[in-house]
This record gives sequence, C-alpha cells and structure tokens, in this order.
Amino acid sequence: MMNISTRTLPEGYAQTVEIDLKKNKRLAITLNVAALVIAVPGFFLLASFAASARPELMNSSGTVSVGVLAILMGLMVILFTLHEAVHGFLFWVFTRSRPVFAMRLFYAYAGAPAWYIPVRQYAIVTVGPLVIIGAVGLLLMLTVPESWVLFIVFVVAMNTGGSAGDLLVLTRLFKLSATSLANDTGDVVSFYENP
Ligand SMILES: [Zn+2]
Repeated sequence: MMNISTRTLPEGYAQTVEIDLKKNKRLAITLNVAALVIAVPGFFLLASFAASARPELMNSSGTVSVGVLAILMGLMVILFTLHEAVHGFLFWVFTRSRPVFAMRLFYAYAGAPAWYIPVRQYAIVTVGPLVIIGAVGLLLMLTVPESWVLFIVFVVAMNTGGSAGDLLVLTRLFKLSATSLANDTGDVVSFYENP
C-alpha cells in the first residue's frame, strides 16, 4: 500500500490514464469555457447570498468608478497566483520538494514532475485552492467593509470557475483504486495503477 510520495515508480505499476492539456488544446479551451459558465452564474449566486446575509448592502449606492476594471484585472492576477501557490504549497506538503510553476496561453499551472503521489494526497492537492480560497472568501464576504464585498464575490466566483480543470481531474480520481499514484508535470497528469 503506497501512502507516501516516491520519485521511483514502484514495481508492477503501469500508466492507465493521462490528461494532457498541451496535446489536447480542445480540452484546454473547453475548460476555459466551462470556467465562464461556472463563474458568471456563480457571481450572481454569491452576490445574492451576500445581499441576503448582509441586508445593509442593499442600501449602499453602488458607484462604478473608472478604476473598478483595473482593480478586477489586478484581482485576477492575484487570484491566479494565489490559486497556483495553494497547489504548489500542497505539492510541497506531500513531497517536501520545490514544485514547478508556469504560464501557458490558456492556463497556469503548478506541478511536481519528479514525483509519484498517492491519489488520496493528490486529491487534496487538486481541490485545495477551490476549498481554501472558497472558504476564506465566504468568510471575508461576511466580514469585510461593504464596498469590498462585490470584489470578494468576484474573486470567489472566478476561483470556482477556474477550478473546472481541477474538478475534471477529481472526477477521474474517483475511478482509480486507492493504491494508485499520480504524476503531475503541470501540463500532463498521469495515473499509475498496480493491476
Ligand atoms: Zn487549480
């Protein structure tokens, strides 16, 4: 039973699944469309949640300044960095070695190319940013000054949409045996099973 990460693929393991965003451009683009399909209704859903949890928000006049778009762009950059940093931190937790980070046209990534990671630990690496940024974001929505609430809502909605690829990988994990190992180069996730 493998429950620690290893740099060497153990005897008897063979690759059974591969998700390759570099080869599969269509999948990469589909994930970006899925991100929008999740993020836009997510934004309105979270905004109405914030409004019902904090009724005083409805009284504040929402003035949209010229700087708002710039703030949103800045928040996107911070969010993408933070999202990948959470993946990277969790890779470090399970491998105790420095992860890799990179930007592509349609996605950013963190990876641990030298490692085979048990799937249960890899599941935590995968959903970490969705769960942690989501939970912190919900808490902030309820506590920050009124004028910040919609920015937090924006960040949480974008993070949830941007986790579409992570959720796709997670659905694959459920189909694997508990002893499986994951190798994540960033562009390519491969799963290895011991038949
Ligand atoms: Zn992610």
